[in-house]
Amino acid sequence: MIPAKRPAAQPVRWQQSWREAVTDAGELLDLLGLAAHADSLLAAADTGFALRVPRGFVARMRHGDPRDPLLLQVLPQAAELGAAPGYTHDAVGDLAARAANGVLHKYHGRALLIATGSCAINCRYCFRRHFPYAQQTAAANHWDEALAWLRSDTSISEVILSGGDPLALATPKLVELSQALAAMPHVRRLRIHSRLPIVLPERIDREFTAWLAQLPLQRVLVVHANHANEIDASVEQACAALRAAGVTLLNQSVLLRGINDSVAALGALSERLFECGVLPYYLHLLDRVHGAAHFEVEPAQALAIVDGLRATLPGYLVPRLVREVAGAPCKTPVEHGAAMAQRDGIE
Ligand SMILES: *Cc1c(COP(=O)(O)O)cnc(C)c1O
Ligand code: SF4
Repeated sequence: MIPAKRPAAQPVRWQQSWREAVTDAGELLDLLGLAAHADSLLAAADTGFALRVPRGFVARMRHGDPRDPLLLQVLPQAAELGAAPGYTHDAVGDLAARAANGVLHKYHGRALLIATGSCAINCRYCFRRHFPYAQQTAAANHWDEALAWLRSDTSISEVILSGGDPLALATPKLVELSQALAAMPHVRRLRIHSRLPIVLPERIDREFTAWLAQLPLQRVLVVHANHANEIDASVEQACAALRAAGVTLLNQSVLLRGINDSVAALGALSERLFECGVLPYYLHLLDRVHGAAHFEVEPAQALAIVDGLRATLPGYLVPRLVREVAGAPCKTPVEHGAAMAQRDGIE
């Protein structure tokens, strides 16, 4: 018998890295030389949202620094356990915006597909920590219900793949989905919102970029970086490969207390992103999701930071400060004067 050239069902490299993520807080602290801090750093009780962080992302954390801005995004903290007024389980009205199984339709011309509930990393501030994704993804029933809805609403010119992280799906699944989308004459753009080019850049492999390059749709990828230290040479390479495939790259960040709440941190992030050909798009005020109150930055301080960015950076490197207001027709700009009213929910 002639042996096969390649053993069958070799796991793709990025899937292997995905599976090897750190999921134990004690191990994470050991890797960072922080074992001595374990008692003060680790949540005393179960937060209901597991720790998960790819090893390549851990490698970008500063050794021996319990305040490292990357570490604080992923490490469960005792502060998550306290209830805070105004912090809920469905902070952005996703349950009300459901148009079909796994389809959110909030804004004109754009429909968002919850492609999967999985992420390679668990970010402590994420609204996803409570959304009932298992029952809500568009991939259930082979996308049939979601695709039928998109086909029938000809006002939709842009389909947004979100999640979870849509690049958790294997590339052949994305190929299948995009073929169905490309056959809809009213759909012109495919937008992907993914943190994987940042936290697991090996996901941007040849198979993936080859798919994007031949797609008969305009394509946009919104990455999600909160701090300049998240972007190393491997991320830079992933961005270059995406641009070579004809993808417009944007970034969204969440403004997070103790992580990126300064002109210096966000200025450095914008500059670093632009070195990778990525333009800053949105800077989000935190969604008020239960367990994330300790990350909140007051709107007045957020505005002062953005004023500081405007005073020091070219205009195209200043992200738009927005917050998501349930029921609003677009992401809501946070502006001087309106900030206090927004804070009190009088939009
Ligand atoms: C944020 C979001 C969009 C995209 O809004 P843009 O302002 O175009 O970036 C679309 N649909 C839903 C449901 C969203 O939450
Ligand atoms: S959806 Fe984005 S912010 Fe939330 S856990 Fe996944 S990668 Fe992190």
